[in-house]
Amino acid sequence: MSTKRRRKSMTKYKRTELKIVFGGFVAVLIITLILGFSIISKRKANTVVTTTEKQTTQQTEEKTEKPEDKTEEPSSEEDSTEEKTTEDETEESTDGEDTTADENSSPFNPSTISIDESKWELTLLNANYKLPDGYVPELAPAIPGSGESLDKRVQPYYEKMYNAAKAEGVLLTPYSGYRSIATQTRLHTNKVDSYKSQGYSNYEAEKMATRWSMLPGCSEHNFGVAMDICNTRDDFNMTEQYAWLVKHAAEYGFIERYKGEKEQYTGVAAEPWHWRFVGVENAKAINESGLCLEEYLGKTD
Ligand code: ZN
Repeated sequence: MSTKRRRKSMTKYKRTELKIVFGGFVAVLIITLILGFSIISKRKANTVVTTTEKQTTQQTEEKTEKPEDKTEEPSSEEDSTEEKTTEDETEESTDGEDTTADENSSPFNPSTISIDESKWELTLLNANYKLPDGYVPELAPAIPGSGESLDKRVQPYYEKMYNAAKAEGVLLTPYSGYRSIATQTRLHTNKVDSYKSQGYSNYEAEKMATRWSMLPGCSEHNFGVAMDICNTRDDFNMTEQYAWLVKHAAEYGFIERYKGEKEQYTGVAAEPWHWRFVGVENAKAINESGLCLEEYLGKTD
């Protein structure tokens, strides 16, 4: 082999080597670029996902907040049935007692009564005393044609009272009489839930709700001895119907059951429309004494 030829062959060899090295370099560069690009695009994708997630979470939060706003206003259904609501209830009932109680516990634990048939009309019902399970009175329409009913032993007294008032031009329209346990449960639960949705614990919500809507089985409406007359409006005590009742209801055995100044004993806010049958003699005695039913029966515990 001549020197020239050898040189040529060496040059050829070197060229091939260079080609390989260059090729390798280009390959590494391409791989690096591809990897780099894919990492960047992955990051971008993640960022997009996170943003979308955030937006979705925010939307969900907004959605859950909206129903809460709604429940702050008392439902019209509740107003039309009984135990009305006023704006000052929250202020009055958060007087700071018993805040150490377990959040999920109930402030009430009523004991089941047994009805003394010899004085059934004096049966005391409140957040401390409840009817036996399954108790349903024998019912009669409060007045002929009315959709509201009362215990059939109470009904004749209501009808007499209704007719006496009507003769003087005063209409004592039956508004809400006997109520089933199911209806009472619904009313009470709605009230509790509306307080809970405003952020109160179960304990506080139960306590506040019960001032306006009695516990199921503890309501005089469940016993069939009470009638909400005409309406459940705050200003019922300004009406001629109320004035008539104050003057005459005892003659027919009915008392104004929940006076504002007796709430410490009754556990219920003022309800001028709620009239309870206790019998004529008892009604007259209670009115004369100025006591509420709890005091009259010596059960103010
Ligand atoms: Zn009532």
